[in-house]
Amino acid sequence: MSGRRLASVSVDLDPLSCYYRIHALGPAPAELSATIFRRAVPRFLDVFARNGVRATFFVVGADLADPAVRRLARELVAAGHELGNHSHTHPYELARLPRERVAEEIDAAHAAIGDAAGVAPVGFRAPGYDLSQVMLGELARVGYRYDSSIFPAPAYYAAKAVVMAGLGLIGRPSGAVMTDPRALIAPADPYRPDARRPWRRGRAPLVELPIAVTPWLRLPAIGTNLLLLPAPLRAQLVRSMLGRPHFNLELHGIDLCDAELDGIPAVLVARQPDLRATLLEKQRAFEALLGRIALDYDVLPLRDVAARVDASGELASPDAD
Ligand SMILES: [Zn+2]
Repeated sequence: MSGRRLASVSVDLDPLSCYYRIHALGPAPAELSATIFRRAVPRFLDVFARNGVRATFFVVGADLADPAVRRLARELVAAGHELGNHSHTHPYELARLPRERVAEEIDAAHAAIGDAAGVAPVGFRAPGYDLSQVMLGELARVGYRYDSSIFPAPAYYAAKAVVMAGLGLIGRPSGAVMTDPRALIAPADPYRPDARRPWRRGRAPLVELPIAVTPWLRLPAIGTNLLLLPAPLRAQLVRSMLGRPHFNLELHGIDLCDAELDGIPAVLVARQPDLRATLLEKQRAFEALLGRIALDYDVLPLRDVAARVDASGELASPDAD
């Protein structure tokens, strides 16, 4: 294996209705149903093309009912990007649903993505980062090569708990669901999970590619945070990732949205601080981030990293914790 470290950039294309659910804002206006795909996806295509990056986009299957969305999905594949399965309807409680419902969510999105784009997905990301034993079993059944849902970041977990408790106190329970805390003790570098305890090493027939956290403190090194940090702090966080064999950088479609340009209602902007930064600011930060990553890493779609882990058991580690 070459001495270069590996990085992947993935984008979860959660529709705006997901954010309405998290913040207990009721149903999202129908005209926003394809905003993320129509507005953010072309921007990501641009930035990735300029930086020679092939990324992984996790798609919510039901969004592909819209012909414009299907067209954009085909564009992503034509540009060399991977499409992954992000469930069919993005139920935050997926880890708590019975096996049949989990199977339906995975199968329906699998079929919709394969139909729309001509390439069947081989990877999955759970809504809300909440992976379960049942999900892992169903992913093995459909022959997936990898899952990338484990996010072993105590700081993220704590922040989510605070927001959810706050909404509960004012009688507006969030549509989000607390992540299984056992994920916090999971390995932070790629590993083969145990089929019954996905947060531990084992012999499942697919690999787990955890989402980026820094060595030692396990701070979340995900796009939504990185794009909003002052440049020197961002650089420091990115530098600390050099201690890991795989920098699995995760973003969301909303990270390249602009409240004003994209007509996002004030009620949502008030609750999503990232929507108060302008598109230009976020694009600049993202370009700088990608440029920085390209210096130190080979950037590959997650499926290619999964194939390497599958072949070698684990990635050669620089000096991970
Ligand atoms: Zn999501």
